[in-house]
Amino acid sequence: MDRTQSEKLWEQANKTLVGGVNSPVRAFKGVGGNPFFVQSGAGAHITDADGNKIIDYVLSWGPLVLGHAHPEVVEAVTKALEKGASFGIPTEAEILLAEKICALVPSIEKVRLVNSGTEATMSAIRLARGFTGRDLVVKIEGCYHGHVDCLLVKAGSGLTTLGTPTSPGIPESHAASTLTVPYNDLDAMAEIFKAHGDNIACLIIEPLPGNMGVILPEPGYLEGLRSLTGQHQSLLIFDEVMSGFRASLGGAQAKFGVKPDLTTLGKVIGGGLPVGAYGGRADIMQHLSPEGPVYQAGTLAGNPLATAAGISTLDILARPGVIDAMEGQMTKLGAGLGSIAQEAGIPVYQTQVGTMGCMFFNENPVRNYEDATTSDTDRYAKYFWSMLENGVYFAPSQYEAGFMSSAHDDAIIDQTLDAARKAFAKL
Ligand SMILES: *Cc1c(COP(=O)(O)O)cnc(C)c1O
Repeated sequence: MDRTQSEKLWEQANKTLVGGVNSPVRAFKGVGGNPFFVQSGAGAHITDADGNKIIDYVLSWGPLVLGHAHPEVVEAVTKALEKGASFGIPTEAEILLAEKICALVPSIEKVRLVNSGTEATMSAIRLARGFTGRDLVVKIEGCYHGHVDCLLVKAGSGLTTLGTPTSPGIPESHAASTLTVPYNDLDAMAEIFKAHGDNIACLIIEPLPGNMGVILPEPGYLEGLRSLTGQHQSLLIFDEVMSGFRASLGGAQAKFGVKPDLTTLGKVIGGGLPVGAYGGRADIMQHLSPEGPVYQAGTLAGNPLATAAGISTLDILARPGVIDAMEGQMTKLGAGLGSIAQEAGIPVYQTQVGTMGCMFFNENPVRNYEDATTSDTDRYAKYFWSMLENGVYFAPSQYEAGFMSSAHDDAIIDQTLDAARKAFAKL
């Protein structure tokens, strides 16, 4: 694979951009080597700066559920742009996107649009604290909720890859207001609540974690969290920035049948444009300004481009059969990769829910962050590079999810499996 142009751009990028990138995971630290630069995308493929056509299972880290440059989304955004990119005055499109979100996500009665997943979780935490009058936040080891100060503690993929469990620059008082508990451990959670319950504003969790690889909730776990938080009048926040519209059309909460008090969204609801949202019980959301005292605002929040992309993406995704077909393709890919690994005698542990999945190079089941870190990351790096050499892009870290889009047809899955046969033969 020719990388001449990408290497040239990488050198140039490092002169003005910190580490050559605008978000750390893009720097390929998890697999070593330099990243490639992308020129364009169409459907399931991206074309890099050297003209290599690559099958993409990262999809901008999840948002592009319909693949790159879906014609209907492009048309919707183009039309919106022609009428003006932003007003800071209410527009009808905001209502339409809000209505779709409320209709699809079981626990959301009222919603606020913001510009990123980080903004959504940061604001949801503030609201939970304002609503309960309490300070403490409980989070799960290995769950990532964006780069919010109090949530950047044991926060999953990016930090794990860089080897800094908690970022410098976060006041001790912030970190001290955050309690962390391993995933899938109800006993540990019960102890935390027993000790601190009266001062816990909220428990925030990725109900289906995707930022330490994809890990499944054990039966009864999410239900247990629901009842614990309820008993202590703490709020349960599901961070579905990744799992929203991917675990199922209604997210992980619909898939697993557990209703949180608040939900944060992002990624898919922007269809590739910068959007986030948080919503939930109306009586809680009413504490937000301008109805209530908890302040949160945004100059570009709910802007016409973002809402146009979100509305058309959710419209298409909600058509009968669309998400089921994608889920089927993910299952097919997982089964294919599984049998190739088995034939090669390489132990892997695979997970899938909806259109998210992961293959850990691990001989044991992975049920929490600590388990995830026992995966063979050197082997993953070899696999990653070999797949890329054969035209397939998976995430440049073992601790990430793989994503399916509606553009990944049978031929693309077969091509992926052909590449995997070559890659596994070399492991
Ligand atoms: C990506 C992600 C975020 C952060 O979203 P940004 O748009 O990158 O700020 C938060 N929570 C989860 C679960 C995510 O996957």
